[in-house]
Amino acid sequence: MSGGPGKTNLIVPLTGATVEAMLAGFRAAASAGADMVEFRLDSLQKVDRAGLRALLEDPPLPVIATCRPVRQGGRFDGPEPDRLGILSAAAELGADYVDVEDDVPEPQGPRGRVILSHHDFSGRPADLEAIVDRLERSEAEVAKVAFAAAGPEDAVAACGILRRAAKPAIVLAMGEHGVMSRILAGKFGAFGTFAALAEGAGSAPGQLTIDEMKRLYRWDATGAATAVYGVIGCPVAHSMSPAIHNAAFAETGIDAVYVPLRIEPGPESFHRFLDAVRASPWLDLRGLSVTIPHKENALSAVGPANVDELSRRIGAVNTVRLDAEGHLAGWNTDYAAATDALCEAMGISRPRLAGRAVAVLGAGGAARAIVAALAHYGADVTVYNRTVARGEKLAAEFGARALGRDALADLSAEIVVNCTSVGMHPHVDDSPLPVRALRGVGVVFDTVYNPVETRLLREARQAGCRTVSGVDMFVNQAAGQFEIWTGRPAPRELMRQVVLDQLKGR
Ligand code: NAP
Repeated sequence: MSGGPGKTNLIVPLTGATVEAMLAGFRAAASAGADMVEFRLDSLQKVDRAGLRALLEDPPLPVIATCRPVRQGGRFDGPEPDRLGILSAAAELGADYVDVEDDVPEPQGPRGRVILSHHDFSGRPADLEAIVDRLERSEAEVAKVAFAAAGPEDAVAACGILRRAAKPAIVLAMGEHGVMSRILAGKFGAFGTFAALAEGAGSAPGQLTIDEMKRLYRWDATGAATAVYGVIGCPVAHSMSPAIHNAAFAETGIDAVYVPLRIEPGPESFHRFLDAVRASPWLDLRGLSVTIPHKENALSAVGPANVDELSRRIGAVNTVRLDAEGHLAGWNTDYAAATDALCEAMGISRPRLAGRAVAVLGAGGAARAIVAALAHYGADVTVYNRTVARGEKLAAEFGARALGRDALADLSAEIVVNCTSVGMHPHVDDSPLPVRALRGVGVVFDTVYNPVETRLLREARQAGCRTVSGVDMFVNQAAGQFEIWTGRPAPRELMRQVVLDQLKGR
């Protein structure tokens, strides 16, 4: 078996062009908390015995020596005997492991503790199991397979191989779609997983930094029993949800980790992932956040019978809970999040929205959830949208009125909710509403959360209106998800702080 949970090595690849740069990287990796480093000798401008001796003299951490040839995605383009000579010398001089590609005939390979590796940059090999079998039957101490992922189901496959591995193994689904296989390597007892020293310093696509692995993805707290949650979307790389939910799990002492799951648009890719999850109960996937463009796919996957009535009418689900038997249930926490943000600011309960005049700007996905909720609680809703026909369609569905944007000058409402993207970073000088239209308005709610105070909110505040920021809605929807998944109160203040910190860092 592999190292076992908690013993999986966090390996930092060092890709310096000089021995000095590699040694500086080595020291930085040790102080960042790495367990092991990989010298990518193929990235050195020049490799000689003196350089290898300098690298391997008194190392602060165990070392893997790798000299990847161009044919396997590396940079070494010299003769093969020279390359194998470099690896043999590294082994002789004290490298703990040497990485040898599985296309090297065994008698020619260097002696020492070998990591036998197979790479496929074109996708998940059809004969993956056979490849793994072959690597495991070899004399090598560690089997390593890395392949390009097309969807997170490939990361599920990588985790499945790890948990069945008969000898220490590294199995990685490369690229953004496969990130989960890197984060969950410890849960499934891998020999190791790779993490870059800094952004842009990685040696393979999809590699996270050691700081992200440790601080964002709870590396040191992840073990065999850790539950898995994630966010499905496309794009998903800049989602704030991993930071919010991982911080909330850490704060409340819940043994769980939350990962990004990039799924390409379309119901087929969504269902492919869910099928893989259902066939893999050992993954311990317990919950999903769902964002653009998959909220409608999530509703169809969960099944209309397994969502509440309002979510069904909205036609979109942003929260999925899975039980150990693979049963799914879905919610739309967006509408509740928006309604509560508004009601909290106004100091009223939801039923007291009845009869209030609300102007909703926009008719997209966010507007749909909010119009449905406001209409449900009896508010008198008017939708103003750039594309009038789209506004009319939405309004007709929920018993609201629809007008064009030119009618905004004569707006008469107690509450204004902006559900357009107007005013969102980087177009922070735009506003969806002329200042004069704010006359007589009591409350302005902007669902845009970046920036925290949009131009609309600033002008509304200056005009004496009460204001509600999109941050409130964002925190509410995340807190709602946390409570659905865990049955425990969400640490809302912490979640808000994480959102504000994330926005400040952008
Ligand atoms: P969407 O489905 O693409 O809808 C965008 C809406 O904005 C449409 O009504 C569109 O009008 C309108 N619009 C876009 N550009 C415009 C412009 N230049 N002038 C006038 N109208 C314009 O997007 P969505 O998912 O509903 O998201 C909308 C906003 O809601 C996002 O910007 C996001 O910040 C916010 N949001 C916030 C949260 C939160 O938790 N705080 C959650 C979800 C969304 P047409 O129909 O004419 O194209």
